[in-house]
Amino acid sequence: MAAYREATPDQAELLDALVAAGHLIPSGVPGVYGRGSDFEKVRLGLDGHVTRVATAAGETPETLRFPPVLPRRQLEDLGYLESFPHLAGTVFAFEGTEAQARAQAERAGGHEDWTEHQCMTDLVLMPAVCYPVYPAVARRGTLPAGGVTIDPGGSYAFRHEPSGDPARLQMFHMRELVRIAEPETVQAWRDGWRDRALELLRGLGLDADFDVASDPFFGRSGRMMAASQREQALKFEILVQIAGPEPTAVASFNYHQDHFSGLYGITTADGQPAHTACLGFGHERIVIALLKTHGLDVSTWPPEVCDALWGVAA
Ligand code: AMP
Ligand code: ZN
Repeated sequence: MAAYREATPDQAELLDALVAAGHLIPSGVPGVYGRGSDFEKVRLGLDGHVTRVATAAGETPETLRFPPVLPRRQLEDLGYLESFPHLAGTVFAFEGTEAQARAQAERAGGHEDWTEHQCMTDLVLMPAVCYPVYPAVARRGTLPAGGVTIDPGGSYAFRHEPSGDPARLQMFHMRELVRIAEPETVQAWRDGWRDRALELLRGLGLDADFDVASDPFFGRSGRMMAASQREQALKFEILVQIAGPEPTAVASFNYHQDHFSGLYGITTADGQPAHTACLGFGHERIVIALLKTHGLDVSTWPPEVCDALWGVAA
């Protein structure tokens, strides 16, 4: 497995502890786990807490939900395969004859390579939860005055980055919020949420800080794109030390300028090109950071943390 990243000893130890406590259920594939009931309770509590904090801040996002697959065409239009070819997951399926089906089953039964019997479908796995929002909003025509805020929820995203680090998953939940409006409105919203999210995570007892960041663009030209993204402070991350040599990004705040709105043709009420920003809380990373910070037994967590997550003690 070429892309596999070995765990550091403390990451391996944390994974073992999470599995032993029943929080993560191994599938046999690195970065793909089932979740135990306490893990899920914390994850859903966190998602609800984000919603409550948004409401308290006067946000009234519109709820939209999408399945965790994206039309392949959209991935192609987005240029995802230029920027992140190493992270994309694509959906292939069988469309052959009975004889080919038998040949495929025989190879699969022997765990041999059966890719020659598979064809590309119209779908890829969802790389980021906000992607379906932009064409959906574009389809409505010109934005209303003041733009829109969309809540695509805490849904599954896939990234092909197999790792022994329990905080680096291939399939994980990302809670996003998306703002589409005038450039200044969008920037202020992104910065406001970065500060609000820091407060939210510190309020849950996490030792969190934010920093400018860049996306893991592929290859040599990718390094230049990452440098330019940092220079323009287009991406911020909130980081928490979980395990391993460096702190882990548990939430991101992205200003896309007119990247998505230009692609789909989204214009503001006064006919200007709209800008977009999104934020993403990494559910599993935050739950693991909480388990690391407050202990693997959720029933012993500080009352103020329980209160924020689900209103009463665990
Ligand atoms: P990004 O779109 O890369 O900024 O991701 C949004 C958020 O999802 C990040 O801030 C992380 O908290 C989370 N995330 C990204 N990649 C992974 C991963 N491989 N495993 C778990 N969480 C992730
Ligand atoms: Zn996003």
